[in-house]
Amino acid sequence: MSEQSGAGPVVVIGAGPVGLAAAAHLAEQGVDFLVLESGPGVAAAVEEWRHVKLFSPWRYDIDSAARRLLEQAGWVEPDLGRLPTGGDLIDSYLEPLTKTPELNDRIRYDAQVVAVTRVGFDRVRTAGREQAPFLIRLADGGEILASAVVDAAGTWRRPNVLGGSGIPARGEAEVADGIVHALPDVLGRDREQHAGRRTAVVGAGHSAATTLLDLGALAEEVAGTEIVWVVRGADQARTYGGGDADELPARGALGSRLKKLVQSGRVELVSGFRIDAAARNADGRVELAAGERRVVADAVVNSTGFRPDHDMVGELRLDLDSIMGSTRALAPLIDPNLHSCGTVPPHGVDELAHPEPGYYAIGAKSYGRAPTFLLATGYEQARSVVAALAGDWKAARDVQLELPETGVCSSNLAYGDSSGETAGGCCGPAPQAVEISPPAGRGLATGISGGLLTVIDEKPAGCCG
Ligand SMILES: Cc1cc2nc3c(=O)[nH]c(=O)nc-3n(C[C@H](O)[C@H](O)[C@H](O)COP(=O)(O)OP(=O)(O)OC[C@H]3O[C@@H](n4cnc5c(N)ncnc54)[C@H](O)[C@@H]3O)c2cc1C
Repeated sequence: MSEQSGAGPVVVIGAGPVGLAAAAHLAEQGVDFLVLESGPGVAAAVEEWRHVKLFSPWRYDIDSAARRLLEQAGWVEPDLGRLPTGGDLIDSYLEPLTKTPELNDRIRYDAQVVAVTRVGFDRVRTAGREQAPFLIRLADGGEILASAVVDAAGTWRRPNVLGGSGIPARGEAEVADGIVHALPDVLGRDREQHAGRRTAVVGAGHSAATTLLDLGALAEEVAGTEIVWVVRGADQARTYGGGDADELPARGALGSRLKKLVQSGRVELVSGFRIDAAARNADGRVELAAGERRVVADAVVNSTGFRPDHDMVGELRLDLDSIMGSTRALAPLIDPNLHSCGTVPPHGVDELAHPEPGYYAIGAKSYGRAPTFLLATGYEQARSVVAALAGDWKAARDVQLELPETGVCSSNLAYGDSSGETAGGCCGPAPQAVEISPPAGRGLATGISGGLLTVIDEKPAGCCG
């Protein structure tokens, strides 16, 4: 049975890589759909980090249905072993995808979704609920009816706060103009803001590492460029990561290079610094405080991770994990308190389902606050959810995922720091694989080899959290 209710297309929120993958699968399934994107063009979030190189080679960055549509349109695939930048992802893959005949008139830009509900139903009312179409309200006041909603809005627009306790530091709002969103283009677009000035980077994930390395390069070019790295935890070993042991070599190299930069003295490391207040000092610089300790900088880069926006779907019935903000079924598979390997068992429509039939969050948003999301995971989510919406439950439940084996469970390096540096992570020896079987539902996976999933016992063996 199809999961769509009432009239209208399936609406996909967000034209990022995963939203567009959903669109490609919907097109292939012959399901009517519309993509709503808040930005002025495709993948507006990736556009902001177009200068950053991915650590996954092209092989893992292209969705299967998208590839088929592109190939029908005469597209030539990039070198699958090469690492694209965010800009390459847009220019060589996502933009051409939006130009295919199947997608080109199905995407609306400057269409920010502000609320999703069911026509005539708030969250409390039950009788007849499942037959009512979804009602989607846009920021410009427009409204659209939908038979189902695939929410691929990501988390980029909702950074975590600087405050070390999860709420804004005292005064954080007042110094907002001195706080920069994660991953500024310090060697290009945003150079002037950092050249010859003192920048504090807050956070311990990949985005912090990337920015620190770029600032290091800037400091080589421009005298007076100072870099301070502010972290809540006391131990940076997890941030420096798995080095050569990481199966995504670019990711391993990031941590190793950062370690060298810190050891060289170019980056001043301030650890164990739990920010509780922020203010402008007499010179107009931003002053971060942790108890009696102070860090002063001209600009503060917030690389503390992201949070999903559940407010806009607050009138739908969601079953959210109280920690991760993902579905409860997905949470134990991705919780960085338990592991940080960045790989999860194949999962799809069943793990992503909420009590509200026909609503699914996929992509980076599906992971809630877990910072380990990978594109390949999102593409399989999209395929599975769309198959269910089209009524093909067999295909929907036949979930498969091929990720690089990381084997690096000792690193919690991720794009942001939402795992919390105090999270246990897997900081002991690599967990022991205890079972080799198809998806067991609750195991933690290191990856797939030969079509089999290596499942690790649910108890975080080898983890010290
Ligand atoms: C710097 C960086 C490097 C990364 N590198 C890798 C990598 O190497 N390999 C990998 O597998 N993954 C990587 N990731 C992780 C992940 O794959 C990306 O974050 C990816 O962009 C997630 O895709 P998405 O489509 O889920 O979300 P996004 O790319 O965030 O797309 C969401 C889209 O929804 C739009 N939107 C948001 N809110 C609304 C709204 N209310 N209404 C309408 N539209 C809305 C946004 O404008 C955006 O275009 C990286 C992430 C970052 C930040």
